[in-house]
Amino acid sequence: MRPSLLHKTVFVWSDLYYNYSFPDDHPFKSIRESLTKKFLDQLGLFHEIKQVEPDPIDEEVLLQVHSKDYINVVKRMSERGHGMLDDGDTPAFRGIYEASLARVAGNLKALKEIESGNFVHAINIGGGLHHAKRSSAGGFCVFNDIAIVAKEAEKKYNRIVILDIDGHHFDGTQSLLYDDDKSLKISMHMYHANFFPGSGSVNEVGEGKGKGFTINVPLPPGTGDDAYIMAFDEIVYPAILRYKPDLIVLEVGGDSHFGDPLVELKLSTNGYLHVVRKVHELAHQLSDGRLIMTGGGGYNYDATARVWTLSIAEIAGIKEMELETLHDCCGTASTPFVMEKVKKVIEQLKEIHNIS
Ligand SMILES: [Zn+2]
Ligand SMILES: [Zn+2]
Repeated sequence: MRPSLLHKTVFVWSDLYYNYSFPDDHPFKSIRESLTKKFLDQLGLFHEIKQVEPDPIDEEVLLQVHSKDYINVVKRMSERGHGMLDDGDTPAFRGIYEASLARVAGNLKALKEIESGNFVHAINIGGGLHHAKRSSAGGFCVFNDIAIVAKEAEKKYNRIVILDIDGHHFDGTQSLLYDDDKSLKISMHMYHANFFPGSGSVNEVGEGKGKGFTINVPLPPGTGDDAYIMAFDEIVYPAILRYKPDLIVLEVGGDSHFGDPLVELKLSTNGYLHVVRKVHELAHQLSDGRLIMTGGGGYNYDATARVWTLSIAEIAGIKEMELETLHDCCGTASTPFVMEKVKKVIEQLKEIHNIS
């Protein structure tokens, strides 16, 4: 079904995205992006969604959130083709600098297309590398494209929502924008002893003028669609509604899915799509439709590509029968124990952030 102009959507893509793929048995592979492209192609969705390439950017853009020294380290290791960019998760490979830069460029192109009014929604599945910090990589992420696009967007917009539904806490994004009062940062993630990256408790709410502009929704292992949707509906949805953003950036990491080997949340495509549908509605209700969707983590490659394809179709307003084949058969439920834990988190957050 042809989408209306209301949902005019652009898909940002660079073949350099294929190169951001760690070697050997490292879990982060660009096959997620290739598979998503294949699904979109097979479903004929590229007849409805225009593809554009990112414009080249230079390193000045990175300096908005990263240190010069760190950028130089990445460049050096990229030329050398080996070494570690953090304490063990993010190995360098030849060309990692260019591959990382391309993903930042993708987010900036997405923003540009929205700012120009050519499109209301922009998708960059190459983006979402939310663990990168000012002077270090982290959790497979070299440059923090989310924080960079927020900084760029702040030149035009005063109220940006960043909602991150990756299974891991958005520690890099949070640290880079912790004192920022032009964006409301919200993360829904698994939170458990010894689970990466270790941050993301309810009490992390921002600092300085950014105090109150960070909302963390820590969820226990085993959180299924029911508890996840409850936390979204009772905390995240009213928080965005109250904030009235003029731009929403949605980071859709695929690793909250029940099939993910690294995260123990239990979201199905039904849970994911509940969130994406509601955020899409909020974008039209509050932000003249302005919505950027990025990718993120995701180590069950098939599940991640299905989540991304379904999310893209939802945002573009495409309703094809064939999309059903990408859905999981059924929703997922939490145990009563997990449900109680999530209810407690919701109560705490209502009090901390004054949400009724
Ligand atoms: Zn729309
Ligand atoms: Zn993740």
